[in-house]
Amino acid sequence: MRIAVPRENQPGEARVALAPESVKKLVATGAEIGIETGAGVHAGFPDAEYETVGASVMGRSDLLPEADIFACVNRPEPDDIAKLKASCVVIGFLKPLDEPTALEPIIAKKLSAFAVELVPRTTRAQSMDALSSMATVAGYKAVIMAAERLPRMFPLLMTAAGTVPPAKVLVLGAGVAGLQAIATARRLGAVVEAYDVRAAAGQDVKSLGAKFLEVDLGGIETQDAGGYAKELSPAALQRGRDMVAKRAAVSDVVITTAQVPGRKAPLMLTEEAVNSMRPGSVIIDLAASTGGNVALTKPGEEVDHNGVLILGPLNLPATVAGHASQLYSRNLTSFISLINDKGTLKIDMNDDILKGACVTYQGGSVHPKVAAALGNPVA
Ligand code: NAD
Repeated sequence: MRIAVPRENQPGEARVALAPESVKKLVATGAEIGIETGAGVHAGFPDAEYETVGASVMGRSDLLPEADIFACVNRPEPDDIAKLKASCVVIGFLKPLDEPTALEPIIAKKLSAFAVELVPRTTRAQSMDALSSMATVAGYKAVIMAAERLPRMFPLLMTAAGTVPPAKVLVLGAGVAGLQAIATARRLGAVVEAYDVRAAAGQDVKSLGAKFLEVDLGGIETQDAGGYAKELSPAALQRGRDMVAKRAAVSDVVITTAQVPGRKAPLMLTEEAVNSMRPGSVIIDLAASTGGNVALTKPGEEVDHNGVLILGPLNLPATVAGHASQLYSRNLTSFISLINDKGTLKIDMNDDILKGACVTYQGGSVHPKVAAALGNPVA
């Protein structure tokens, strides 16, 4: 079984699907690993390091036709898909629900494909949870980015020239990214408060030394059986927004991470709320790629609104490519262990993780959500 790792070619992408430490583990199981020349260089993994642990480094044209598994960060382009053999298995961030039509070439070629976004969030699949890995990196980097752009320091300082008060940071959404943002801002010495519709998140927020903002949502159920936020009624959303606007007006930094799986991100900070913030304040909208939590966010751009800086980064994990790759690579290696039988490819579609993450199996068995998004609910 040959696992091929391409050099990612999307603009701004610096991650690589497998780090040398994972290659070493996979080689020990009997797998052969092919790495495209320069694939890991922007993540801090030179070709020589891959060769030392047993990988073959080669050009893209030699790599693709031989692949039994194509392990990638971003979904391959049609040109690359055309070069893969029909029995190949593609694994990566395939955006199955955001861009389902882009998967048509994979289905048409009768490949098998697994989307890491669809890995069920069960205890057994925890080590394969690439969404959590990337959210951890994004939450950390959002705070570093805010600290860099804020014209103030984060910690309380007592100097001969007087006292410098700590920065006030407001985090909206206390899931994986939000909690990492809170922890990072606290380590830098900021005073942090956070809001989440899931009351259960309050314990996590408090355990990190931040204040949890309570909003009376009228006793409605805000969390589904999987621990995710439900979509709220307009009235409940408005109550959250009213409280958020008051706290944003006295915050130096607002980091927004609120998302509802499969839906557009909820609007949390209106233009009016941004108007009430002091010039020099910084907003980092981590939900920019799914519509944004801030009315003025422009995905991938910087907006200066009367001195309030609004950043809507689209791929923060790629800016911490070394660790983001290392974590993703461990997630992928754990996932590959499900289909790696002592170096031979073996797919058991009765496995609940494989079944959950499968976008298509040999061009058939299209995931019901993807099939529905493609307008073919019975495929
Ligand atoms: P996410 O990225 O979908 O959402 C981020 C946060 O935004 C969530 O905490 C959500 O409650 C919050 N949010 C949504 N709408 C909001 C609104 N209108 N106002 C305020 N906040 C809002 O979620 P995530 O970070 O991927 O994970 C959320 C939860 O899922 C975790 O806290 C955990 O309970 C669960 N989870 C479980 C596993 C596992 O079991 N393996 C792994 C990861 C996460």
